[in-house]
Amino acid sequence: MSSNATPAESTVTVSDADLSEAANGILEQFPDDLDGDLPSAEEVASRLDQMTNQYKVPLDEARRAAVSHYRDVFGLEYDDLEFPGQSAGDITLASVDQDEQWVDVTVKVVELWEPTHDSIDQVGLIGDESGRLKFTKWAKAELLTLEEGRVYKLSNVITSEYKGRYSINLNSRSNIEAVDGDIDVGADVEDVQLSAPMVAIQSGSGLIKRCPDEDCTRVLQNGRCSEHGDVEGEFDLRIKAVFDDGETVQYAIFDREATEAIGGITLEEAKEMAMDALDTSVVEDALIDALVGRYYSVEGPIVGRYLLVNEAEQLG
Ligand SMILES: [Zn+2]
Repeated sequence: MSSNATPAESTVTVSDADLSEAANGILEQFPDDLDGDLPSAEEVASRLDQMTNQYKVPLDEARRAAVSHYRDVFGLEYDDLEFPGQSAGDITLASVDQDEQWVDVTVKVVELWEPTHDSIDQVGLIGDESGRLKFTKWAKAELLTLEEGRVYKLSNVITSEYKGRYSINLNSRSNIEAVDGDIDVGADVEDVQLSAPMVAIQSGSGLIKRCPDEDCTRVLQNGRCSEHGDVEGEFDLRIKAVFDDGETVQYAIFDREATEAIGGITLEEAKEMAMDALDTSVVEDALIDALVGRYYSVEGPIVGRYLLVNEAEQLG
């Protein structure tokens, strides 16, 4: 059944052209008048090549790691870097889906929190009609003080992503302008994107049966619903996965659609497999063989301890 899944040992190669473009993009961010020589584009490309093609790090992550490395080498602050293309213009908070993107937002300050470090001047939640995001205003930026409940246009602010959660940073390149009026702030922006290896699939995955009561849909244990007793269950597919990038553990649930997409198996095929084997656990075992140990990007809302996967993609 794993015929549709990409084997772990296969290589998704980042081309020389892409490496060279990424390397030049990185070098453009560094000032021309550095103490010490900038590396050549070939050196940067070779570093990216090693991270992507040898260690299977996604190119975006490799690019960020390389920028951070050279920043350390030259003792530069993040603010010292140049970003060609600058601000992407006015956007809503819910549309923030990239790391390190310069944007303009018009927002209400929903909450101010106690800064946890001297380097932070203000930290809290900002919101617009589309949702809310955390913001951090750095002390060295020396910007206008934000007041809770007031509306501001924040220009040239930069997005940041940590563990799939986005936030907005205000630094010395940013501008704050108080705006009259009010904003009806929307709910939390909940979707989270995570890139990490899948380290386990928990029991209760694969081919399962659910209670047919449409308000219940509990997963049956030995043909029994804990609420409705013995029922004629309905087959479903799901994966309860554990992702662990070495720092954070995230539990995730793939529904039938996401399981079919990532597992390369349909519900009908899963039922056939189980019938052939006279055992539903063969489906769970097959999914474990096909998926565990590989690197994925998954996206969806966090509900309780679970990320409910809407989109999933295998990375290399
Ligand atoms: Zn039930």
